Amino acid sequence: MKISQKEDVNISGPFAFSPRVSGTKIKVICGPMFSGKTKTLIKTIDKFKAKGKTVVVFKPAFDNRYADTAIVSHDKDETQAVNVSKPSEILDLFHHADVVAIDEVQFFDSSIVAVCNIIADHGKSVVVAGLDMDYKSNPFGSMPALMTMADEVVKLNSVCTFCSGRARYSHRVSKDSGIVVLGEKDKYVPLCRSCYNELKEK
Ligand SMILES: [Zn+2]
Repeated sequence: MKISQKEDVNISGPFAFSPRVSGTKIKVICGPMFSGKTKTLIKTIDKFKAKGKTVVVFKPAFDNRYADTAIVSHDKDETQAVNVSKPSEILDLFHHADVVAIDEVQFFDSSIVAVCNIIADHGKSVVVAGLDMDYKSNPFGSMPALMTMADEVVKLNSVCTFCSGRARYSHRVSKDSGIVVLGEKDKYVPLCRSCYNELKEK
């Protein structure tokens, strides 16, 4: 398909070209712990697969809470995944994919933003899932940058452990310090804003 600039747009030079990339999209699925991020990611992957798309799934190498070569939701849905220790490894492995999916994307360094853009620029769809805030309710790693450049952002909520309200915060109940502490409900509980603020002050 040839396209050229609209008549009311005046860019100098010869601007008729065939677009190499069309219809690709970067989608970010985010929320607190236990909000169904991985489950939603797996559902999205399954939808792409049902349309005949080849999906390659990546996850950070050190997140082996459930399985070494799969992403697994808290209620045990799963799909095969490739472990990578840094974002640049994804660039060696995405070329045969129509869609690149990445789970726990908040754990990657800031080069993940450029990597997602490169993949999209190659005409592939990108769908990533991650925690939007750490346990101190600060934006997590590259999530703000990813959310800003995404075409679509899905924000999920969990259910507050205390009042059953809408939970946006992952409160750490263990004594571990450090931003990255892997764990389940033994270490984190989802809380709404008011319960989070009550507990934080204790
Ligand atoms: Zn609450």
